[in-house]
Amino acid sequence: MNPFWNPLVDRLSPYVPGEQPLRSDFIKLNTNENPYPPSPRAVAAMREELGEDGARLRLYPDPDAKAMKTAVAAFFSEFSLSVNQVFVGNGSDEVLAIAFLALLKHDRPILLPDVTYSFYPVYCGLYGIAFTTVPLDAEFQVNIDDYRLKNGGIVLANPNAPTGCLLPVEEIGRLADIHPCSVLLVDEAYVDFAGETTPTAIALVKKHANILVVRTLSKSHALAGLRVGYAVGDEKLIEALDRVKNSFNSFPLDRLAIVAAAAAIGDAAYLEKTRAAVMKSRKALFARLVGMGFDVLPSASNFLFARHPRHDARAILLALRERGILVRHFDAPRTAQYLRISVGTNAQCGALIEALSDILGAAR
Ligand code: PMP
Repeated sequence: MNPFWNPLVDRLSPYVPGEQPLRSDFIKLNTNENPYPPSPRAVAAMREELGEDGARLRLYPDPDAKAMKTAVAAFFSEFSLSVNQVFVGNGSDEVLAIAFLALLKHDRPILLPDVTYSFYPVYCGLYGIAFTTVPLDAEFQVNIDDYRLKNGGIVLANPNAPTGCLLPVEEIGRLADIHPCSVLLVDEAYVDFAGETTPTAIALVKKHANILVVRTLSKSHALAGLRVGYAVGDEKLIEALDRVKNSFNSFPLDRLAIVAAAAAIGDAAYLEKTRAAVMKSRKALFARLVGMGFDVLPSASNFLFARHPRHDARAILLALRERGILVRHFDAPRTAQYLRISVGTNAQCGALIEALSDILGAAR
């Protein structure tokens, strides 16, 4: 170990994000980015904030990002949220990092599905939070009754990642009732792709003071490059997040991010249009992959999780890469034979299918 290091640093196993290649000619289906550009209103808001000479950048941004919180509360007006029920951060990864520290470090271990977003155990390692994994069933589904264990909190991605499977909101409510003294963190990074109406647990926060819903603008709002995420929950949960955030970084969102996020959230019609396009392409891609012999899990997200009974996942990934197409692979016991494929434009999905026919045909 390096003598300058905090001994903790040596013990960390950091999260490894999907490849962001420097070459731009890859078809990127590996990190669940949106294939469409963000709302033009978001881009216009940034241009306006910059002005002629960028002089406003001399000034620090609003530490509370009020404009963004107001936009979130307005978007969910049917649930009568106050701005004090909204927390914002530099991507939902930062929101999650703060939530783990503020709300999930207790005496008992937290519960996580055995197959889920692989950043969760990394936060546990960073903060020394013990966790217990609860196996998904044979179809990769979460069963709430498997979570009847004493715990220091529960974290579920819904839809789950990398499976894409959705748990009904009623089940989330039932779990929150089973464990009224635990925080139930619901990571809804992909929920806007779940269907025509969005089955969000934000509908439950008024009734359940223990539910914290974490969201991102990276996927459905096509702003992964801007780094904006948020959380919605009871004011007391949000106060805890703010106390940690204000002990760490007063200004997680810069001026451009605040105005663009507020504008993107305000452009509900654009969200409708682009999420519908992604869901339509997903349906077509699902059918094409099944037609080629892949087993594909039902997806409520902007990606598909698929395996081929006769072809090794990693070999397919490498062959796709050679053809300029990136997909993602998770080398863990239950996922090693699966590929996670982000839904691209119809043209990108077409190129993927063409490359796969070529690869599977050649390997026959
Ligand atoms: N949650 C889940 C389930 C994810 O897959 C991701 C994307 N890697 C995130 C959170 C983080 O997204 P971001 O930090 O871009 O908001």
